[in-house]
Amino acid sequence: RAELQALVRTIPDFPKPGILFRDITTLLIDGRGFAAAVDALVMRARPHEVTLVAAIEARGFLFGAAVARALGVGVLPVRKAGKLPGPRVGIDYALEYGTDRLEIHEGAVRPGDRALLLDDLIATGGTALATTRLLREAGAEVPAALFAIDLPDLGGADLLRAEGVAVDSLMV
Ligand code: 5GP
Repeated sequence: RAELQALVRTIPDFPKPGILFRDITTLLIDGRGFAAAVDALVMRARPHEVTLVAAIEARGFLFGAAVARALGVGVLPVRKAGKLPGPRVGIDYALEYGTDRLEIHEGAVRPGDRALLLDDLIATGGTALATTRLLREAGAEVPAALFAIDLPDLGGADLLRAEGVAVDSLMV
């Protein structure tokens, strides 16, 4: 954990003044670090016996695809509004200022699917909670969510747990 943590860079005042941004690109470009992170996520994912990895745009795609390949299941890109070409279903969710929208293709989730939610970081939990609801409305179970980083002071992981999702992360 300490080795992974050393590969994450903290950048002050991004994207707005006062925010400490945890930059994982320094972890991604380190071959050993990236492999260690993916292996640790896969180890945490296995007990949940998922049939699909739902990866959140955009940094979630990077971990999600690697974890899905290791588990031998497919990866579902959960995308920002307007990116998917086919008929889609979506969910609007509140941001600090305004709203955002996440979408998946209609029929991308099959009844009985057990989806693992994957993203690089959980902060307030707004993104992960909206994704959980979207996947459940589409017919999937969401037994677990994994993140490279959890910022526990912001309470997102606890919100997600209250919805019945098992939450784990590599770094806190
Ligand atoms: P939440 O919805 O939990 O407040 O924010 C989580 C979402 O915002 C994730 O999709 C995550 O990628 C992004 N995010 C918020 N803060 C940070 C940060 O400090 N570093 C990184 N890498 N992503 C962040």
